[in-house]
Amino acid sequence: MKENICTIPINDLFKPKDGCPICRMEKMLEETYVDFVVGDAMMEPNIRIETNKKGFCHRHFSKMFSAGQKLPNALIMESHLKSVIDSVLPKKAGTKPDKKSLEKITELSESCYVCDRIDRDIHHLLATVFSEYQKSDEFRTLYREQPFICLNHYAYIMKDAMGKHGIGSKFMKQFNEDTYKLTKNYLLKLKDDTTYFCSMFDYRNKGKDFGESRDALERSIEYLTKEKP
Ligand SMILES: [Zn+2]
Ligand SMILES: [Zn+2]
Repeated sequence: MKENICTIPINDLFKPKDGCPICRMEKMLEETYVDFVVGDAMMEPNIRIETNKKGFCHRHFSKMFSAGQKLPNALIMESHLKSVIDSVLPKKAGTKPDKKSLEKITELSESCYVCDRIDRDIHHLLATVFSEYQKSDEFRTLYREQPFICLNHYAYIMKDAMGKHGIGSKFMKQFNEDTYKLTKNYLLKLKDDTTYFCSMFDYRNKGKDFGESRDALERSIEYLTKEKP
């Protein structure tokens, strides 16, 4: 499973030039893992042990429910519920729960097998992005030609780029500049589109075309607060 994902050529992931490339990578991983959990993973007891323990977040339970068939979903749910009953509540009524088990319940509501796998693979994929970027002029051009990098992923990619498997000193300045531009230029565009949108409410602009500003608010909300897969 992990091998399959890591062998996807990074160039192919950057070629579509549609939105933020890291969002695209996350989406690809999300679809792969959701299908895997309700499909092939049913045959792997080790995965079930892990999903029983971690469970899934609301988003991924919902996605599994719409992507998979009812029986696999029900079987996963049945053994997860069993694990929840056995692991977080006191065995007998009237027993005072200890602090640790109460914390475990809070953790459980945020814990997710799919989110964890995505998070782990994204770091691997980013390491490949950094290595490609330092190796190939062609990839550097492809990187620069992305429509934008969303704000959230700007922080994400820069943190990794400055880390252990990141970008070496030779290319750091250029990578930093390229990534900064991809984030900043789109932020400026969103701001301009929003300003234009506001101006359309001036009576003097009555009858003018909203143009690209039509969905400026939706795009800005999406850009600033995109729900994490
Ligand atoms: Zn993104
Ligand atoms: Zn999740």
